[in-house]
Amino acid sequence: MNFIKFLGTAGARFVMIRQLRASGGIWFEINDTRMLVDPGPGSLVKANKARPALKLSDLDIVFVSHKHIDHVNDVNVIIEAMTDGGFKKKGMLLCPAEAIENPPVIFPYAARFVEKVEILKENFQCSVKNLKLKVPLKLRHLAETYGFIVEADSVPSIGYIPDTEFFPEIIDAYAGTKIIIVNVVFSQPRPGIMHLSLPEALEIISGIKPEKAILTHFGMTMLKERIWEKTKDLSEKLSVDIIAASDGLTFEI
Ligand SMILES: [Zn+2]
Ligand SMILES: [Zn+2]
Repeated sequence: MNFIKFLGTAGARFVMIRQLRASGGIWFEINDTRMLVDPGPGSLVKANKARPALKLSDLDIVFVSHKHIDHVNDVNVIIEAMTDGGFKKKGMLLCPAEAIENPPVIFPYAARFVEKVEILKENFQCSVKNLKLKVPLKLRHLAETYGFIVEADSVPSIGYIPDTEFFPEIIDAYAGTKIIIVNVVFSQPRPGIMHLSLPEALEIISGIKPEKAILTHFGMTMLKERIWEKTKDLSEKLSVDIIAASDGLTFEI
């Protein structure tokens, strides 16, 4: 089965710190290739407690969009788990240079357990087993940040737009993507804070016109507004099927 599983949907500090939503990142399983994206606090626990089980030693890729703690807190221990405690050198780590530079948030000892470390840049591309991954553009956030588009045989293309402020080039860069996952922290725009708000995310989604849009990485205002109760209306308005991710959600592809 091909699926995306949300091990967390928390965005912004207070939702994460108080664990109003979990912050374990997103697990992708596509054509027997497994990728864990943005393993924030609790990722190890959430992956181990998932039912059906997610076997961390089966991971092929760890993808870090940027070095903020809600995206990397568990990355070192996840690398240990992927590599059987470092005894089996394997897998790929994809991250911005900033995440492994001074001071690194991905420790050098852990990076050495991984078979291949690839530094993300605009237009970066790679193939891992049956999966093709490309970085469409550099996002605009307080840290160096990249999302991706993954393509694989007989599954729709999937795009991930992590933390960023709004800028129109995002729409062209992700155009044609069939499933899009968007980190939406605020219910209303907050100029100067480099995160997407709901109206900005909707502008991106209506520009890309995917078959499915999955909102995640919610800050307090998105929870207070009960975003999950609004997606039906938003879907009708945009003629795009929009859902709000919830902790533990398994989305079958
Ligand atoms: Zn974040
Ligand atoms: Zn961030």
